[in-house]
Amino acid sequence: MREKAHDILFESVRIGPKTARNRFYQVPHCNGMGYRHPRALAAMRGVKAEGGWAVVSTEEAEIHPSSEVAPSIEGRIWSDEDIRHHTMVVEAIHKHGALAAIELCYNGPRPNYLSRLPPMGASAGPVGDIDPVHCRAMDLEDFRAVRRWHRQAALRARKAGYDLVYVYAGHGLTLTQHLLSRWTNRRTDMYGGSLENRTRFLRELLEDTKDAVGHDCAVPLRLAVDEALGSAGLERAEIEDVVASLADLPDLFDFCMGTWRHDSRTARFAAEGFQEPFVRGLKALTQKPVVGVGRFTSPESMAAQIRSGVLDFVGAARPSIADPFLPRKIDEGRADDLRECIGCNVCVSGDYLGVPIRCTQNPTMGEEWRRGWHPERIAAKHGGARILVVGGGPAGLEAAHQLGKRGYEVMLADASCELGGRAVRESRLAGLATYRRVAEYRLHQLSKLSAVTLFPGSLMTADDVLATEATHVALATGARWRRDGSGRRHPAGLDLSAHRSVLTPDDVLDGLLPSGSAVIFDDDHYLMGGALAGHLARTGCRVTLVTPASVVSAWTANTLEVDFIAEELVALGVRFLVRHDLSRVHYDAVEVRDVLTGAVVELAAEALVTVTARDPVDDLERALAKRGSESSHGIVSVARIGDCDVPATVAHAVHAGHLYARELNVERDADALPFRVEPIL
Ligand code: ADP
Ligand code: SF4
Repeated sequence: MREKAHDILFESVRIGPKTARNRFYQVPHCNGMGYRHPRALAAMRGVKAEGGWAVVSTEEAEIHPSSEVAPSIEGRIWSDEDIRHHTMVVEAIHKHGALAAIELCYNGPRPNYLSRLPPMGASAGPVGDIDPVHCRAMDLEDFRAVRRWHRQAALRARKAGYDLVYVYAGHGLTLTQHLLSRWTNRRTDMYGGSLENRTRFLRELLEDTKDAVGHDCAVPLRLAVDEALGSAGLERAEIEDVVASLADLPDLFDFCMGTWRHDSRTARFAAEGFQEPFVRGLKALTQKPVVGVGRFTSPESMAAQIRSGVLDFVGAARPSIADPFLPRKIDEGRADDLRECIGCNVCVSGDYLGVPIRCTQNPTMGEEWRRGWHPERIAAKHGGARILVVGGGPAGLEAAHQLGKRGYEVMLADASCELGGRAVRESRLAGLATYRRVAEYRLHQLSKLSAVTLFPGSLMTADDVLATEATHVALATGARWRRDGSGRRHPAGLDLSAHRSVLTPDDVLDGLLPSGSAVIFDDDHYLMGGALAGHLARTGCRVTLVTPASVVSAWTANTLEVDFIAEELVALGVRFLVRHDLSRVHYDAVEVRDVLTGAVVELAAEALVTVTARDPVDDLERALAKRGSESSHGIVSVARIGDCDVPATVAHAVHAGHLYARELNVERDADALPFRVEPIL
């Protein structure tokens, strides 16, 4: 039964000629599948529609090769050839009663690595952050061409069956935004100068699109409301004028931030609802419905956005990725079953790396077509079996949850009294609190499965395992950080014995806090080094972070965090030595070497924290193997899953636990490909 307070979320809302069945709106989001994996894309969007979203949107769809985003893989609607891919997506969305939206996009200046066409933009200058390519300033003929291409793309979108055809002016990615913003528009003609001139092209695209498809399709505008540039770029006063001047032209306003990194901030740097201050009040400037985002996962916050008149639709990208069935669960009064987004942006990393989307919380994301996984359904068990899962971290909890859903009898034992493994341990670091949700969601689901028994506080030995008389044993015993400095830079490790206090991240997470000066040697490059630096600085340590990489937490460039992390650490007084390697240690100092010049610097270090590599905790497996008597105890299989198999991200461990549960007792040809591959021809 739905809670009364949530009824408001299920009111239907008109968007131009279309009606949305409720207020849940999946805004456009990238996914690394785009034009290259259309079947996978259709299946993923279809699951969202099945989960109850009223509107399901594509990612940006390039309208012309003169502005393409290779090597990123986005949507494409360059020619009639592309229509059939889109029809597949639309049909999957319509099958479940949702409206399908496409975000048409002319990016403006891009290096055009694929098409090799000369880039053009609002004003001439270098394109991208580092690309060795300039663009030329568009002339009036160029503007006429882009209008024509946009119109043709809109007509194709209608032919494919889309209900909503976007005009896009957001995220710093679009020609329309570049023209709107004084930061990027230095023109002196009818498209430059006054705000009216800078809005002209956006108005023209809206009018063209309405004229081309407006009778059949709604035409939303996705508009950046702030560029984080102060008065040098788009800011509130101008945006109010833009919204007021366009007020009734689009059928809906979809507000976003002016850069992707500010729009999709991780939980480490922004709380739920963080965009409200930028959007509040804009709705009063138009009669048209308004959608906004803010990583909403609480139905109360969502309802409050509607009730207080900030939004008409609850927009979501990441919450819809973590839980495609979010609307249905709220509708059925099952808000306690929501798989809440943890705001980690591992989903974004798929797009950055040009591979299909993945999600820490939802291991089925991106696997709907190629593996046939569904976020809510799993095949019933094959035959009877008694399964022991050792380790209650992300991998073990996910395996136990899914095995329990399949109907197996499951025992889950963990040495720790608190289940959750690294998801809980690491959540104690500032900014990582939401990682707890990985454990909390699964523990709550497990509490409903009577065939799963939890044994916290149970350190398992080989004898204990054999005594359980389990048929299958899944070892999800995790990994521990190495203590000898071994990792990428020093595969054979370093002699650190002279130092008075060498700590690993595990030691710090266990509560060992150095005082005075600490050097962190980060040869891992994801979250841990930067998070520990912040943690120690907050407790009063003088921290120097040494890394062979050229930036701190280098891999977080893929999660849009790398600059935010550096800014935060600077504010906390952490000193960085990038492109430096640890070379020697003394009793209370370390020597670090510039990797370019070889120059050595000595740093005072009452503690040295090495963040280098992790070793699987596989002693239990080795002990079992030594006994060599599993079969005599009725054990059919022993498998390692998650970090105990391959140390990696939490997303990887959850996926491994899910895979294990899906495939247990399922006959498979060992040489067959593990998943379906999209045909190219
Ligand atoms: P993953 O990310 O792969 O799930 P974690 O490190 O988060 O791995 O979790 C591993 C869990 O396994 C920890 O909670 C740890 O207490 C538990 N564990 C490790 N060895 C044993 C053991 N021999 N018996 C019971 N629990 C164990
Ligand atoms: Fe949320 Fe992380 Fe999943 Fe992205 S990967 S949807 S941020 S939980």
